[in-house]
This record gives sequence, structure tokens and C-alpha cells, in this order.
Amino acid sequence: MSKIQTLETYLDAHNFLREIADFHRELDEQFSAIQPLNFPPREKVLELVKDGVPLLQRENFLRQILDATKNFVPYELAEKLLQQDNQSAEKFFSEHEDLNKTLTRKIFWTAVDKLVPAELKRWERDDWQKNYCPICGRRPTMAQLKKFNDGRARYLLCGGCHTLWNWHRLGCPYCGNENLERIHILELDSKMRLDVCEECNCYLKTYSAEDEENIYLRDWTTLHLDLMAEEKSLRKVGAVELE
Ligand SMILES: [Zn+2]
Ligand SMILES: [Zn+2]
Repeated sequence: MSKIQTLETYLDAHNFLREIADFHRELDEQFSAIQPLNFPPREKVLELVKDGVPLLQRENFLRQILDATKNFVPYELAEKLLQQDNQSAEKFFSEHEDLNKTLTRKIFWTAVDKLVPAELKRWERDDWQKNYCPICGRRPTMAQLKKFNDGRARYLLCGGCHTLWNWHRLGCPYCGNENLERIHILELDSKMRLDVCEECNCYLKTYSAEDEENIYLRDWTTLHLDLMAEEKSLRKVGAVELE
């Protein structure tokens, strides 16, 4: 018998997450009809982004996403969100107070997640090595440590489109601090830890096991760790609801 727990058993043990789990389930159902866009095959995409510009920030792909999301998020706002132009996005929200900021951001990125073909979201073996997502350009929201040769390698996870890519460098992906004496680790349980950067005061929530990605690589399932970090005045980066 496998010891891998299901999301349901995890939620039984973390009952306080029920409400947020229901919210995500409803959001998922609401967008269940969205089909991935017909993007070029993987090899072509790898070739395209070699210049460092993420796929969805390239005119042709950007337009395809905006056309596909225009029924739920205003075109002009979606463009700013996709271009990671937070200042302009904030301005748009302040001029349109009827829009729920958190929900609108969440809806937009849920749709983007569904529009990106699954085969384009796995970059574990590809040479990207940047601190932003190769597909949408967002900064990572989580990390995962996985066995690699004799040691372990670190992968970064995008909270927007859920692409996972490798990151060989040690140190903080937010500010570039590579002085490991200025980074400390808060081990929270056998599977989750926070890598805290003392330079920028940000933390990277890290899943340090394998097999339960379905549970632990969803930002909201470890919300309690974010609350704990908040109590320590640490800063969260990369979550779609924030900015
Ligand atoms: Zn992304
Ligand atoms: Zn930092």
C-alpha cells in the first residue's frame, strides 16, 4: 500500500484549509471548459525564449492569451498583468473600484494556467536558469528540492502558470543574494521549509520531498506557513493575489 496521502486526507488533517480548498475547487470548475492554446511544440518554444524573453511576453502569444481571457478580465488590465507591470495594474484597479483586485488577479492567472499546454510547463532538464518563469515571466512563488545525481537540485515554481524550472544557483532568487551566511532555513516539518533571505527579508517556501507535489506544490495548501512567516514580518513574493 502506498503511503502517499490524497489531498482529501491532507485536508482532514488541516481542517482550517477547507474554505480555501472549496474556493479553489469552485474556481477550477468555473474554468473547466478552458482548453490549452495551440502553442508551438516544446523544442520550438525552447528555441524561441533563448533570448531571455518569456513566451507570453512575446507579442503573438501575449495577444492569444488576452483574446482568450477577455470575457473574464478587461483586456487592458490583462495586458498589464501579463507584462508584470504592477504599477499600471494598480492604477487600473484604483480607477475601477468595482473590480475585486484579489479575485480578478486570481481569475486571470487561473485562466492563464489552463491556457498554457502542460508539456510546456516542465523545464527541469532545460537550461533556463533565470529567476523568472520562462513561460509567463513571473517571479517564483515556491521551490522544490529533488534528488539529482548524488545530491539534490532546486527547482522554482511559478505561482501564475505553474511552470517548474531548474535553478542551479544557491542563494535568494528574489534579490540575488548569494552569501549563504545571510540566508537561514526554517525547517517546519519533514517536508516543508522556508529559506529566508536576510538581505531582502523575503522567504521561499520550499517543498523538500517528492511524490506529493499534488498537495504541497499548491501555494494555498501551506497557507499556515505564510501566516507564520507574516508574524515574523517576512515578505512573500510571487503570489498571484498579492503584488
Ligand atoms: Zn509562469
Ligand atoms: Zn533576498
